[in-house]
Amino acid sequence: MEVILGRTSGFCGGVRNAIVKTKEEAEKSNDIIYCLGDLVHNPIVLNDLKRMGVQVIEKLEGIPNPKGKLVIIRAHGVKKEIYEEAKQLEIKIKDLTCPKVLAIHEFVDKYSGENSFIFLIGEKKHPEVIGTASFCGNNSVVIENEEELQDAIDIFNNKSKENKNMNLIVVAQTTFNLEKFEEFEKIIKDKIDKNIEVIVNNTICNATRIRQEETEKIAKEVDGMVIIGGRKSSNTNKLYQISLENCKNVVMVENAQELKENLDNFKMCKKIGIMAGASTPEESIEEIVNIVKNM
Ligand code: SF4
Repeated sequence: MEVILGRTSGFCGGVRNAIVKTKEEAEKSNDIIYCLGDLVHNPIVLNDLKRMGVQVIEKLEGIPNPKGKLVIIRAHGVKKEIYEEAKQLEIKIKDLTCPKVLAIHEFVDKYSGENSFIFLIGEKKHPEVIGTASFCGNNSVVIENEEELQDAIDIFNNKSKENKNMNLIVVAQTTFNLEKFEEFEKIIKDKIDKNIEVIVNNTICNATRIRQEETEKIAKEVDGMVIIGGRKSSNTNKLYQISLENCKNVVMVENAQELKENLDNFKMCKKIGIMAGASTPEESIEEIVNIVKNM
């Protein structure tokens, strides 16, 4: 079987940094360390960390005797209020928010005053978006689809009639689909008064963009495609969607066992492409590549 493995498969810089540093902290510490939410959306990595004494919590207030405890902030980042809450509870923070996400927080924070309105394009329920939204202030809206974009444009047009100095800021979740973002940008520019300043900051991470482009290219060349990654992983789901648009035969798996259960899908294939999301460990990728090669 001919196999094409995406060059950009696996951990991105932000995720690799978060995992390495969390493991370092766990090795140094004799106490439990806490992580606000899953460090990455991958069950294999999470089980590994659990064995090392990293406990996932959803809220700081869930920590027993919090004073002096260490809490990891994952690559997605957290809400602005968390930093203040940690200070009050005298919790130590290890902030592993990806620098690219931190840059978005700083950018929107700068425009969170009354003379700007922010469109944050991304998935409302995604932790990164929840975190970024908290830095945007009240004049902002999260937009997931075209319908919501239209509503947001109406809201902005009304607001800008009341405040003639208001400008419009547009940013995106780091893993948002680039093509869709560009479509949204065009709609926004067409429907907003030309006299209004519109600042579009394409905050889609380069690692995401390159991985999505490579996925599309591979999916077009092969007759079967395997996407590896956690089901909760937003970037892995996007790779799956892109593959479906470009290849008839696509499966998304979290691990080698799941692939084994789906091998029948590839019976007639001659060339299979493999791509993995940003939180997929190398061992999983290698294992799956070997299974496919030996088919
Ligand atoms: S995908 Fe990009 S922004 Fe997100 S954690 Fe990885 S490097 Fe950072």
